[in-house]
Amino acid sequence: MADCIFCGIIEGSIPAEKVYEDELVTAFKDIHAQAPVHLLVIPNQHIPSIQQVGEEDSELLGRIFSVMNRLAVDEGLAERGYRIVNNCGDEGGQTVHHIHFHLLGGRSLTWPPG
Ligand code: 5GP
Repeated sequence: MADCIFCGIIEGSIPAEKVYEDELVTAFKDIHAQAPVHLLVIPNQHIPSIQQVGEEDSELLGRIFSVMNRLAVDEGLAERGYRIVNNCGDEGGQTVHHIHFHLLGGRSLTWPPG
């Protein structure tokens, strides 16, 4: 989608440190990392937020979670633990309107988030 930063990253017109990509999903390092490991895992299809996800997206969501599981292993987080975050809408803290899951780890994370 025009004007979407994350669509630009998927296409390659906006640079990013990609760590994974397939026909459905792309993962890359967050530009403002909040932890030693901070990846963003996104669908290649432009879906604005989790609010637009329906039953027809179950395969896509399953793929996203399976990719996050694999990345957690690859990044050495599986044994230590990690956090997956999805911000939805303005009060949820969403700033980029293309669904993304934050995969955070590599330090002891506090709760609740701010
Ligand atoms: P949100 O606040 O929407 O949940 O998260 C958006 C995330 O995207 C933020 O953590 C922000 O640092 C990251 N981000 C925004 N623009 C870029 C960019 O151009 N490149 C990368 N790699 N990350 C970005």
